[in-house]
Parts: sequence; structure tokens; C-alpha cells
Amino acid sequence: MLQAPVRWPRPSRLAAPLQLPAGKMADGMEALGLSTVGALLEHLPSDSRQARTVATLRTGERATVAVQVRAIRTRPVRRRGMRPLVEATVADASGSMRATFFNQPWLAQRYRPGTRLLLHGAADQRGGFRVWNHAPSAETANGPPEGQLAVDAGARAAGEPALEAATDAVRRERSGEPGGAGQAAAVAHYPATEGVSSTQILTLVQGARGSLREVTEALPAVVRVSERLPDRAGALAAMHFPEGAQDSEIGRRRLAFEELLVAQLLFLRRRARRRASRRARELAEPPSLSERWLDSGLPFALTGDQRRVIAEIGEDLREPRAMQRLLMGEVGSGKTVVALQAMLRAVEHGHQAALMAPTETLAHQHFATVQRLLGAEPVAVALLTGSTPARRREDTLGKLASGELSLIVGTHALIEPDVHYRELAVAVIDEQHRFGVRQRAALDVKGAPHTLHMTATPIPRTLALASYGDLDVSVLRDLPHGRRTIQTRLLSGERERERAYEELREQLRAGRQAYVVCPLIEQDGARPGEDTRASGGEGSVRAATAELERLRGAELAGFRLLLLHGGMRPREKQAAMAAFAAGEADVLVATTVIEVGIDVPNAAVMVVENAERFGISQLHQLRGRVGRGEHPGSCFLMGPSPPGSARLRAMVEHADGFRLAEIDLALRKEGELVGTRQSGAAQFKVACLPQDDQLLERARACAEAIVAADAELREPEHVLLADALESSFGSDALKPIPA
Ligand code: ADP
Ligand code: MG
Repeated sequence: MLQAPVRWPRPSRLAAPLQLPAGKMADGMEALGLSTVGALLEHLPSDSRQARTVATLRTGERATVAVQVRAIRTRPVRRRGMRPLVEATVADASGSMRATFFNQPWLAQRYRPGTRLLLHGAADQRGGFRVWNHAPSAETANGPPEGQLAVDAGARAAGEPALEAATDAVRRERSGEPGGAGQAAAVAHYPATEGVSSTQILTLVQGARGSLREVTEALPAVVRVSERLPDRAGALAAMHFPEGAQDSEIGRRRLAFEELLVAQLLFLRRRARRRASRRARELAEPPSLSERWLDSGLPFALTGDQRRVIAEIGEDLREPRAMQRLLMGEVGSGKTVVALQAMLRAVEHGHQAALMAPTETLAHQHFATVQRLLGAEPVAVALLTGSTPARRREDTLGKLASGELSLIVGTHALIEPDVHYRELAVAVIDEQHRFGVRQRAALDVKGAPHTLHMTATPIPRTLALASYGDLDVSVLRDLPHGRRTIQTRLLSGERERERAYEELREQLRAGRQAYVVCPLIEQDGARPGEDTRASGGEGSVRAATAELERLRGAELAGFRLLLLHGGMRPREKQAAMAAFAAGEADVLVATTVIEVGIDVPNAAVMVVENAERFGISQLHQLRGRVGRGEHPGSCFLMGPSPPGSARLRAMVEHADGFRLAEIDLALRKEGELVGTRQSGAAQFKVACLPQDDQLLERARACAEAIVAADAELREPEHVLLADALESSFGSDALKPIPA
């Protein structure tokens, strides 16, 4: 009989509860989730996580830097009642800058030249740094000589001595030696809470130092050697007790690498599992209908990108395993044609295909587009949404089950439990980030079709790897009409607004159409605490309903205005969209319901009210609604004055969605990026994207090698990685891959 390997029950000190006297401090530690020695040692200092160097700061970005004061002075402020500013010249090994402290004149005395500081704040346009939070970062056993930080960093710039130092720290730990005396010791700062301060946490961590040697090393030795990473215990020691300027970063990278590696292992194993278990129909017959359609049915020639992606998809469809492909395409890059081609591949094999969109409005539009693009091709297609009348729904469900319908377009109504397909071979999910994981999974129940996930929210490759690492990725960059920049202007104040309307009217008189986008539906719809003053004045938040009335009676009197917002009934929305698309209205006053996918080629102007209330990717989506046809588009972003936001300036400067996504990513933290929060991935504790993009690429390569050699992670050098995978993502992550 085969016996399970014996594991000696080793009483681990890491699992031991922290011994704290009952009281405020114990409560605080509990609130932080720190009840064991192990948890305490994994409670990482906060500041080093994102500490950046002066040279890499970007305007508008919030960041923490570790610097040394070179010079400091107070500067009086002219405004009455304001305390003098404190201005300091601060530097790290990468460069120097001017940091400004507000409202705390006494700091000029406290932070004398030579003091090391951790500053949290934001870089401003003029190369300065506005400080929001600050703390002395170094306590000196013996007082570091001035300039030590720079010297330290310089000496260790090669990285290797620092790596040795990190490993050294552990060796000393293990042998009980004290750290080198006289070294400048940067002091770690911890996320703290009521009852426990950062300093108290540090004291506890110091008390638990001895337990570091019990920390499990999950990375295989070959990986650590080839990636030149310290072991986990060394990395933790380097972060908690840094001795040189680079120690804590080296420790952080080691922990981040493991975190990224484990996530990539999860993705790659999930993908392997799906490939092995989901058999899809091989669509290998030569294209007949789809080819004929491409050659003669289209009113335009395909772009090179479209042809390339169609070929990539064709390869996938030929395989007996289900395609899982993400198609990232700039707004207006022509994803619909690509999707329809893939769907027709299913039809010409006698199977079915479905196109699912996140909103009714978009589903209706897709339905109309599909009908128009199909032209005379005899393909039975229907529409199914939540508001399809019961009788028609029943009829459609019958035809789906019998196979009488070849193509179906709709919303999530397509994946309801009572919808049965005879043979669903291809599914397309438009604006896939709008759907939840569960909705995407529901498609598998409908026959595990080849699936094309489409998104117009471009994300940098790193983030795609981090969030959608289990999908293959295709990209459409070319725009059909050439990348013609939509002229974007940032306007504020009545005079500029008046000029914008002037231009708008000119365009309308020339036969173009326009959108006016407002953040709110109605003034009542404002969230509590929002400014809900009458819609006219500067500084108020405009609502679509009120703005429609206002424009009708003022700047746009005499033009045909229509309203579209999410609060309208589906049928009303349909009617409004159809009327606008048919040119029966000049201006559509709308909320962000038009953000997704709406395609009216004659629309050339967009006015976005309260632009400061929208995110970059939202603005990019909105702006993509104009300039889709032969007429150049223009976009007026109505912002506050002065127009200071880095986001809005990025919109003016850049047209490329991929570039904007990168800026967005730099301005926010990765988890806040539209579309990634829902994906359930990309939530890292230590890793920090996009800064860690190279680390991510290496972790990806490493995970690929490991999965290729030992997908089940059964080899001795991988079992601890398997444990790490399970403790991060649960036991499902270890489900075996079918042969
Ligand atoms: P998106 O990628 O944003 O979904 P669409 O598929 O809606 O873009 O296409 C945008 C517009 O460009 C549509 O009107 C579509 O018919 C048109 N279009 C698509 N491909 C081409 C092409 N190769 N040449 C000219 N126009 C095209
Ligand atoms: Mg689209």
C-alpha cells in the first residue's frame, strides 16, 4: 500500500500567537490582522513598497521618496492668514528637487540639512514636490555623516553588494551576530493603526527576528540563482532591517517576484486545464460563406490589422480546443467585422454563433450592423435581450434549440439558464470587461464554444499579462481611416464655452451631428454631498435632463435635440438611438450610456461637461464616438479652471489608447484601472505595476518553463510552490490538468 509521506509535526514558531498583554496595543494588532509571529514577519513596511527615486517621478503622480535634506528655508506667503511655506532642497542618489511643506513653518528648524526623510506627496509641473506626509526615515545609531545616503547608494548601485548584504543580514540573523555597528540604518515604517504605532510594530518585529529562519523558501534554488534573488527570509530581513539604501528594494523585488510567479502559475495552469478539458468543434473546412462575404459583401477594404487578426482567429478555430482569445482594439478599429467573420466560420460549418454585448443599446446596434453587413447573405439572425417580448422570446428560444437560427445577438439574456443552443460553436463577448467572471463562465455551459473576448479598453501588455494571463491576445492598432487625431481641447470659463458652442453650431449647420455628455441624469440623481446647484453656473455638476432644456432655450435653440440616459426605458433608449443614427436629431444630450460602442459615423463633435469627473479610459471611450466616419472629429472637454488635472492634459496630448492606458496606470494604482478590478486579478500585495513590468515578464517566462516541465508541480523542487499557489488562490488552483 502506498503511504502518504510522513510529515513530522514540527512546532513552528511562525504559527505561535503573539504574546501581548491585553490592551489597546493588542487590539490594534488584532485589527491589523497580526495575531501570529508569522503574520507579523509578513507585515511589510509600507514606505519602501513604493519608494521611488527622484529621477523617475512623473508630473502629477503621487509617490513616496526617500531623500536627504540639503538646504531648507521658510518662505512667506502673500495671502493673509496663511502660514509661511517651508521649502527644502532634497536629494537621493538619482537627483535633487525642491520639496514644499505647507502650513508647518516649524519644520525648517526640525529638518536640518543632513536629515533623511520619507516624503509622500506629488510631483508638480515645475519639477517640485508637494509634500502631503513626511517622516524622518533614518535613526542613527552613531549619526551618519552627511551625504551618507548618496554614497551608500552609489557604492551599491551595481546591485551585487546589496544582494550580498541582504543575504548577509540573514546569515548574521542565523548566527546571532549583531548588525554592523556604525552603519546608517534606515528605519522601516509600518502600516499602523489606533493603539499601535509603527515604532511599536518595529519593536515587535525585532523581537521576532529569530523566527525568520523558519520562513519557508518556496522558490526553487535554480530560479533564485538564475534570477539572483535572496531567499524569502533574507528578503524579509532586508525589508524590516535595511542597512543600505537598496536593501529594502532588493527584498521587495524578491517578494514581488514570488507573488508574480505564483499568479502566472495560476494563469498558465488554468489555461492548460481549459485547453485540455474544453473540446470545441474544429472549424477546419475551407471558408466559403465567410470568404465570399469578406470579398464582396463589405463596403470597404479590411485594414492590415483586421486581416492579420482574422488569420489568428482562423488558426484557433481550426483546433479542437476552445479558443480563448482577447481582442484588444482601439475604439473604432473595426472589431465588429472581425467578430462577424469569426461567427460566420461557425455558420458555414452548420453551427451557431452568438454575440453578447453589455447593454441593450449596444446589442440593438450590433444587431442592426450585423444585418447591414450581412447584406444579401442568407443567414438567419435574431436579437435577444431582457426586453424582448415574451412571445418573441419563446419563438427565438425554439429556433435556437432547433438550430433554425444561425446567429444570435443580445445581452446577458443569451446565457440565461433556459436558453439552449443546438450547437453553439463561436461566442463573441463585446466589451468583455463589463461582464463578470461568472457570466463569462456561463458560456461554457452553453457548449464551451470558441470564445472571442473583445475590449476597447486597451491595457498595456504588462497589465494584460497580470490580469488576463490565461488568454491569448490579439491587438488591432490601425484605424480604418488612418489614425486621425480627434482634435481635443480643454476649456473652462464662459468665454471659452461660448466659442465652443459657436464651433458646434457651425458643424451642425454643415450637416454634422454632435453629442453633449453630462455626468448626471438629473439634479436629483446627485449623490449626497455633491454640488447640485442649478445646472447653469460654473462649478456645478451638469445633468443631462436639465442641460437638454437649457440648450434648447439658449445656445442650441433651433436645432433638434434628443435625450439619452440610463434611466430611460430600454424601448425609449432604442428609439432615441435609432433616431439619432438616422439623422433625425442633430444633438444627442446623454450620460455615459453612449460610452460603449455606439457608432454613428456622421457624429463629429463631442462636448463633455464636467470632464474632471471622468477617468481617462472613460474619456477615451467617449471621445471615440466622434470622428468615426469621413469627417474629422473634435472634442471639447469642459473642465474647472484652472485646468490642472494631469488626466485631462493627457487627453489633449494623446490619441493612442494604449499610451493613455499607460498614463492612466501611472497616475492611478493598477487595481483602480477600469476593467481590471472586476477581473479579480492584478491585486498584488508587494508587486507594483507598471514599475515592476520587467519583473513580471521574467516571472512569466519562469512560470512558463516550470509549467512546461512539471505542470502539476509534483517535483520536489516545486512542491513548496504548489503550497504557495494553494495558500494564495485556494485548493482549486491545484486542480489537476486532464491528460
Ligand atoms: P470598434 O472596434 O470600436 O467596435 P466598429 O467595429 O464599430 O469599431 O467599427 C467602427 C466603424 O468603422 C464602423 O462604422 C465600421 O463599419 C467601420 N469599419 C470597420 N472596418 C473598416 C475598414 N476596414 N475600412 C473602413 N471602415 C471600417
Ligand atoms: Mg465595438
